[in-house]
Amino acid sequence: MIKISELKSFSKDIKGKFFFNYDLKKTNWFNIGGIARAYFKPENLSELISFLKKFGSKEKIFLLGAGSNVLIEDELFEGVVIKLGKNFSNISLLSETILVAGSATIDKKLSEFACENNIGGFEFLSCIPGTIGGGLKMNSGCFEREFKDILLSIQAVDKTGKILTVPASKIKFAYRGNDLDKDLIFLSASFKGKIEDKQIIQNTINSLKNKKNQSQPTKIKTGGSTFKNPINQTKEKVWELIKKSVPLDTKFGHAEISQKHCNFFVNRNNATFKDMKNLIDFVKQTVKSKTGIDIETEIEIIK
Ligand SMILES: Cc1cc2nc3c(=O)[nH]c(=O)nc-3n(C[C@H](O)[C@H](O)[C@H](O)COP(=O)(O)OP(=O)(O)OC[C@H]3O[C@@H](n4cnc5c(N)ncnc54)[C@H](O)[C@@H]3O)c2cc1C
Repeated sequence: MIKISELKSFSKDIKGKFFFNYDLKKTNWFNIGGIARAYFKPENLSELISFLKKFGSKEKIFLLGAGSNVLIEDELFEGVVIKLGKNFSNISLLSETILVAGSATIDKKLSEFACENNIGGFEFLSCIPGTIGGGLKMNSGCFEREFKDILLSIQAVDKTGKILTVPASKIKFAYRGNDLDKDLIFLSASFKGKIEDKQIIQNTINSLKNKKNQSQPTKIKTGGSTFKNPINQTKEKVWELIKKSVPLDTKFGHAEISQKHCNFFVNRNNATFKDMKNLIDFVKQTVKSKTGIDIETEIEIIK
C-alpha cells in the first residue's frame, strides 16, 4: 500500500483533486458505504496516466462511475477510488451516424445527443442511470438492447498507464459483462446508430421511459436490479423466482424489497452495508431452497 505522504506529494503537482478519508456514502445510489483512504478526481488524461504510471501497479484502485450498480462496504476502502469528471464526458459527432463519448458521460446525455442529431439506436440509454464507462463494463441494457449492439470500439488505459483501442469485434460480451481485463479504465467509446427522424426517436424515448416508470421504482436509494436473470437455468425472470419464494415484506434493518419491483432492493433510510448484504443473502438462499436455482448478483459488491 502506498503511503499517504506519497499521494499527497503527487497531488501538489496536479490540477485534479485528491481527497483523503473520503465518505463514499454520497457517491452511490444506495447511499451506503464507508470511507476511502483516498479519492482522486484527475483533471485530464495526462494526470490520470501519470498517476497510473506511478502508482497503478502498487495500489488497489476502484474506478467509480455514477455509482448506480455498486454496493460499497461500510469498512475503510484501503485503496484509491478514481472518479472521472467533466473533462471525460465530451460527446462528438464523427460522422452522420457515428458518435464518440467520454466514459464519464451520463447515458441519458448520449441518448439526448443522438436524438438531437437524428441518430436512432440510442433510445434505451435514456432508461439507464449510469455512465458510459459503467455501461461498457456491465454491458448494460434494457428493452432488448445492450451496449454491445451500438458499440464500435473502446479506448482505455491499463494500470501501467498504457492507452489502447479495442474494437468491439475483439470483445466477447456476455449478459451484464465482458471478457476484458478487469483493471482496464475506459476513457471513451465510439458508437454507431442509424439515421432516423428526431420526432420518432423522441417518441420512442418517451414510450420506453413510461414503460420503465410503470414497472420499476424511481427516486429511491437502490442499485437497480439486484440479481441477474438466471438465463442458463430457466426462462423465468429472477423477479418471478423472488416473488414466488420470498415474503416480500422481508426487511433487515432499513434494507427492504421494493414493493413495485421485487428485484430492486431499497435503502429505506439509513441501511448499513450489513443490512443490505443480509437481505441479498437471505433472498439468494431462499430462492435456492424453494426453486433449486442459483441466482447471482448483478450489483457489484465493493470491498
Ligand atoms: C434505478 C436504477 C435503474 C437501473 N436500470 C438498469 C437497466 O435498465 N439496465 C441495466 O443494465 N442496468 C440498470 N441499472 C444498473 C446501472 O445503472 C448500470 O449497471 C450502469 O451501467 C452502471 O453505470 P455506473 O456509471 O453507475 O457504474 P458504477 O455503478 O459506478 O460502476 C459499475 C462498474 O463499472 C465500472 N466502471 C465504471 N466506470 C468505469 C470506467 N470508466 N472504466 C472502467 N470501469 C468502470 C466500475 O468500476 C464498476 O465495476 C439501474 C440502476 C438503478 C439505480
